Amino acid sequence: MGKTILCACEDVTLSDVRRAFAEGHRDLESVKRYTGFGTGPCQGKSCLNAVVQEMIRLGATAAEIAPFTPRPPVQPVTFGSLAALDPEALPVDHGVPVPALPAPPCPGPSGPLPERADVVIVGGGILGLSLAHQLTLRGVREVVVLERSYLNAGASGRNGGGVRAQWSTPTMVRLGLRSLKLFGSFAGDTGVNGWFRRGGYLFLAPDGSQVKRLERNQAIQREQGMRTRILSPGEACAVVPQLDGSRFVAASWNPDDGVVFPWPFLWGYADAARSRGATVRTFTPVTGLDVQGGLVRAVETASGRIRCDTVVNAAGAWSPGVARLAGVNLPNRPTRHEILVSGPMKPWLGPLVSALGTGLYFSQSQRGEIVGGMGDPDEPAGISHGSTLRFLARFSRALVGYVPLTAGLPVMRQWAGSYDVTPDNNPILGAAGPANFLQLNGFVGHGFMMAPAVTEAMAEWMTGREKDEIFDRFTLDRFASGGGVGEDFIIG
Ligand SMILES: Cc1cc2nc3c(=O)[nH]c(=O)nc-3n(C[C@H](O)[C@H](O)[C@H](O)COP(=O)(O)OP(=O)(O)OC[C@H]3O[C@@H](n4cnc5c(N)ncnc54)[C@H](O)[C@@H]3O)c2cc1C
Repeated sequence: MGKTILCACEDVTLSDVRRAFAEGHRDLESVKRYTGFGTGPCQGKSCLNAVVQEMIRLGATAAEIAPFTPRPPVQPVTFGSLAALDPEALPVDHGVPVPALPAPPCPGPSGPLPERADVVIVGGGILGLSLAHQLTLRGVREVVVLERSYLNAGASGRNGGGVRAQWSTPTMVRLGLRSLKLFGSFAGDTGVNGWFRRGGYLFLAPDGSQVKRLERNQAIQREQGMRTRILSPGEACAVVPQLDGSRFVAASWNPDDGVVFPWPFLWGYADAARSRGATVRTFTPVTGLDVQGGLVRAVETASGRIRCDTVVNAAGAWSPGVARLAGVNLPNRPTRHEILVSGPMKPWLGPLVSALGTGLYFSQSQRGEIVGGMGDPDEPAGISHGSTLRFLARFSRALVGYVPLTAGLPVMRQWAGSYDVTPDNNPILGAAGPANFLQLNGFVGHGFMMAPAVTEAMAEWMTGREKDEIFDRFTLDRFASGGGVGEDFIIG
């Protein structure tokens, strides 16, 4: 039975599905992520029925087996064919429609919610779960994380996994370095493998002004002990020989940056927090915040109300909606960001490569796939997770330009998520409105890599220890007073 294959593309067995279900991954989207079924070339066409039948046998409800979101392209298409399309002739539209978040299904058995908590965290993405982990590590027992959908439904389950310390301000460099250290100890701390690989980050500069920017950043980074070096095109091609060295004039290289596989980090932090007494409840949207006398007294959900001392808004791109429940206006604007994965190739790419000025970035997973994305300057604000042909054409044209070798490689799957964008590209942290309503949102396209360091500092502060300067710097009221140095070294 252990060898009964249900998904031939991804080698997923009957016992893999049973184990996922036994570990609490009861809905189809979660079982897909936990086992990998349906993520190969056939996109679930040959295995979906068998998995669903087994889940019904195991006791899944009708809502839990709602089919997972299909991902284009229907058939693998090569980067070379897509690069031949003219992106400018293709519209910026919603693309292949998908729900921004699947509607919460009626969950399986989960028991009543606690009636009170020290801290309720709204949003079970990397920020919310990592904060729960850090708080429980410091002895806070009554922590409740409320997640509207399944774990990994938001940006944390849709991102490129790039984690770096190459930033442009001392604060961001410090946070990036601390996060890299915590990513490195994650497997030992939680017993879960996050596939953290320090293959480095290589930023390619197309012109002299971008080189100056990299040189400025390098000086800041080296002051904090980083090994960042500015490379000539020839030296960069020694790091990635497949690059077309005529496309850029210099590069910035830090061998200690890296890439993770995001999904296990959410499961690992959730399990670690639960093991120390926290409640992590999926499919439980927060629908109201009861504010009285300048404090949030309780959090409301369809499954009950939780009285609490502190509420943390870690709802990512949905944070403005959660903040409005307490009468607080956040300036964050959700913006779609598209990404894709190719079929596998033998390993040839060590670092994550980012071509400045284009928004293009790509890395190679440990299974050999190219994972990459590219921001679109014409993308309007708003929650939309549809996948577009325009993105495929823009990305493929840029990728094949920098790495001609990829022309024959097929695109396997594309998807999208939301950046949670603030006016200065820095997060919003700390109290806003009610004194016990803390913000932990606005992380644009770098929240995954910032989460371990920022939540560690936040847990220190929330438990009466040291207050990091970021909680004075990244407040909501900085926008009203016009202060704050913007972050300009974002990708996408
Ligand atoms: C395509 C893409 C590529 C990216 N690449 C990178 C990268 O390489 N490196 C990096 O560091 N970052 C990257 N990012 C950014 C990163 O993914 C985010 O900054 C980070 O995941 C944000 O985490 P979060 O916990 O704030 O939000 P999310 O992961 O979105 O979590 C918020 C959660 O709140 C839940 N929620 C919403 N409303 C409610 C409610 N009312 N009640 C309860 N729950 C609610 C949502 O369901 C969601 O799960 C990328 C993002 C995208 C979209």
